[in-house]
Order: sequence, then C-alpha cells, then structure tokens
Amino acid sequence: MRYCSTRDNKLSYGFEEVVLTGLAPDGGLFVPKEIPRVDGNTLDRWRNLSYVELAKEVVKIFASDLEGKTIDRLLEISYSNFSHPDIAPIKRFDRFSIMELFYGPTLSFKDYPLQFLGNLLEYLLRKRGEKVNIVGATSGDTGSAAIHSVKGKENINIFILYPNNRVSKIQELQMITVEEENVYCLAINGTFDDCQSIVKRIFLDEEIRSRIKVTAVNSINWARILAQIVYYIWASLKSDKKSIFCVPTGNFGNVLAGFYAKRITELIEKLIVATNENDILYRFFTKGDYSVREVVPTISPAMDIQIASNFERYLYHLFNNEDVTVKKLMEEFSQKKVLLFGKDVLEKVGLDFLSGRSNDKETKKTIKEIYEKYKYIVDPHTAVGVKVLLEHEEKFKGKYNLVSVATAHPAKFPEVIEETIGKLEMPEEIRRLTEKKQRKYELPADISAVKEFILRHALR
Ligand SMILES: *Cc1c(COP(=O)(O)O)cnc(C)c1O
Repeated sequence: MRYCSTRDNKLSYGFEEVVLTGLAPDGGLFVPKEIPRVDGNTLDRWRNLSYVELAKEVVKIFASDLEGKTIDRLLEISYSNFSHPDIAPIKRFDRFSIMELFYGPTLSFKDYPLQFLGNLLEYLLRKRGEKVNIVGATSGDTGSAAIHSVKGKENINIFILYPNNRVSKIQELQMITVEEENVYCLAINGTFDDCQSIVKRIFLDEEIRSRIKVTAVNSINWARILAQIVYYIWASLKSDKKSIFCVPTGNFGNVLAGFYAKRITELIEKLIVATNENDILYRFFTKGDYSVREVVPTISPAMDIQIASNFERYLYHLFNNEDVTVKKLMEEFSQKKVLLFGKDVLEKVGLDFLSGRSNDKETKKTIKEIYEKYKYIVDPHTAVGVKVLLEHEEKFKGKYNLVSVATAHPAKFPEVIEETIGKLEMPEEIRRLTEKKQRKYELPADISAVKEFILRHALR
C-alpha cells in the first residue's frame, strides 16, 4: 500500500515513512492511494476472529511494507493490557447497542490507536537506530493516553504540556503518577491555548530542530486512524444487519476511521457525526456551512474543537482524490475561516453521513434518562452520541444495527456524573491513582523556559 498527500496525489510514501513523518511535507495529510475493498468470503472469515486477530488482518492490508510477524507481535502487545477480553465489547440494549471503547490504560478510546502507535514507533526507531522526543499539549485525554503509550519505551522521551490547575483531577493524576523516567509532565502556568502555542513554536524553533529530533503523536497520524478502523469492522461483523454508528466527534479522527471501514467492508449504512455546541461539523453535514466560530467550553471538553484536523482527509475522498481542489479549499479556509458547499456536494455527503448535536442540558438529560432506564452510566461525550442516535432512531428502527460509540469511561468525569445521577462507583485503577507518587514540573507560560527544559532533558 502506498500513500500520497491530500494536496499532492503524485507523491508516493510507504507506511513507515508515513508514520514517522506524521504530516506530509506540503502541509497536507497522508492518505492511502486507494481504499481496498474486501470481498464477502474474507468478511465471513473475519467474523470468527478475535479482536486482535482481526486487527492483524486489517493492519496488514495498510502496512504492507512491514513483515507480517512484526505486525502480529506489535498488535498482541498493544492490546495485552486491556482490561476486557473482547477489547471493544458491544453492550446491547433494547433499541440500540453501545460499543465500549474504554478498557485501555487511561479509559478513553484514544488508548486503542495510541497503544499501537507507541509500540510501532519503538519498533521503527530501534530498527533505524534513531531517537525521538515527543512534544505535545493536552487539555485532557490525549496527553494521558500518549504518555501511557510510550512510557518506558526505548529511544523515546515524551514532554506533555498542560495548563496547571485547569485539567480534571483524574486526567492530571493519570499523567503525573507515571513513574517511568522518559516521561515529563510540564504543568504550565497558563491556559491550554498558551500550551498549544508554545508547542507550535517548539516545532518551528531553529535551535530545537538543529539539536534534537522532535515529533508529535497527534490525531492526524495515519497509524492512529488505521487502528481505529478495526473496531468499526469488528462491531459491523457482529450483526446480520448493516450497521449505523453514531460517533461523538471533535477532530473528526474517530468517525473518519468509520468512513474507511464503510468503504472497505460495505457493512455500514451510515455514520452519524455527533457534536456538542462546538458544531462546525454539524453545520457542514447539515447545511454545507464549514465556518469557524469561537470555542465554547462544555461538559464534553474533548470535543470542544472548531477546526477538525482530520477533515481534510474526508474532503480528499469526497472530491474524488482531486488534490488540486483540496489544496485550493484548504488555502481558502485558512484565509477566510469559512467554506460553503452547495446542494450537489451535500447530496453526496449524505450518502455516508448524517449529523446531530447536543447542548449541555440535553447531554445531562441523556445521562439521567439512560441511567434511569437501563441502570447504565454514560460519560458526557458518549451521552452526546446517544442523544443524537436516539433522535435518528425512528427512521431506522428494526432495519439496522444501531451502535453508539462510547469514547470514555464515566469515572473520568465524576463531577458531571455525580451532578446528574448522584453517585458513581470508581474503578479500582482510578482509586489507586491517588495513592501513587506524583511527579510534575511547573513552568511559566514562556517559550524560553520550556525550550530550555526540553533541551536539558531531551534524547539526542
Ligand atoms: C478525543 C475524544 C473525542 C473526540 O474524538 P475525535 O477523534 O477528535 O473526533 C471524543 N470523546 C472523547 C472522550 C475523547 O477523548
């Protein structure tokens, strides 16, 4: 399988380079040159596989330049520490199912792609005799999932910046209680935006670039999308009916993986893009209006995003791999912060996607109703998806396998859960966090302080 850039389809890269480079050199995103379709016999065979066995089959199609044995081993270790034997269990209710993606070490779906990426990176670096320093900013789930994906790994140090006293207690504990020496949690006295802008400047800094190798593990890395394709195929294979997935969305990474799964298997009827009040994607999918507004903070903070970094990949496929069109659109978007699309485009979009949104009040109401009806607790992100799925349910009832994607364990958001239903049982691994030793480095929101720290502790 070869890959090109969304802005230049004549480029040709192998899987290894795509993973190690992250972003294409022209600023575009890497996409597979073609999306393979698997036939009915293959799907029948896949139906009987375990999660990890299925992952091996899917990853081998897209990482054809790695040895099969290597892929097998990397996937086996990546999911060996998940706490449910099915890895991504499907919980069935009367009107719909929930695919639970919170059995990894940090209890959000981000563990599914990042555990794989961490092991893959370690393997590739050892093979090439290289070292890297991962630098990133987090407002919550990404940082902890990234830290747990590379802690203790050879040839990798990780520096995660987060706003001091402005992430949730549990999210902070999941980062600062990691003992491995290659992990540096930088508590920045500033906002998340400060952290992000410092990270951006670190990546552009001449001195940093000449002295050490820095990289990101953000959601545009193709290996992350690839690992996420697996669970959509997994859940689709568990039903005789075609599936409809409702996915709570921020950066458009998770639901994009569902789109690839739809193309690869033809087992998916539709994907429903669920947003909170930060609804740029909802406006695009329902009205063709992709225009940036201010980010408003909500109770589903991992979705408080306006510019969805993976959206460019979808545009590329939507416009039949026309790199010139994508390049033009992205340039227009970066100038005007607005893209408007007409009816013809919306019609095509509608073949794959539907969309809905939920405000905080509706999200809380959903948490409460699902608990009262099923004695089942959904986290605020998952609740956004469930709310949107249920409002689409009527027209699909009985004909399709309706699946809402649970992106985090409710115990990660105890304040909202306690406010809505009054009680929450903490899983053992979260209770234990408070007893562990903590290690963090407090720094001012100042590029030179952060730069000096990173240069002092970086691998080279
Ligand atoms: C990151 C995250 C999301 C959004 O996922 P995208 O791939 O950015 O769309 C949703 N829910 C939770 C809990 C997350 O951590």
